[in-house]
Amino acid sequence: MGLFRDLGERVEKLKRQATDAASETYVCAECGAEFATGYETCPECESESVERVESSGRGGQ
Ligand SMILES: [Zn+2]
Repeated sequence: MGLFRDLGERVEKLKRQATDAASETYVCAECGAEFATGYETCPECESESVERVESSGRGGQ
């Protein structure tokens, strides 16, 4: 039964990654600009404070 459980967890992880890729957003903590791509530095203000946020799914279920 352990194998089935392990497989199920891997499938769940893959599904979660796919969902994250579709819904992830990056926000500059300095100027508040939002991007669909994770930049190392903000294209707007060149701050390095670009943080990844999830538009949905956090804390739910
Ligand atoms: Zn910025």
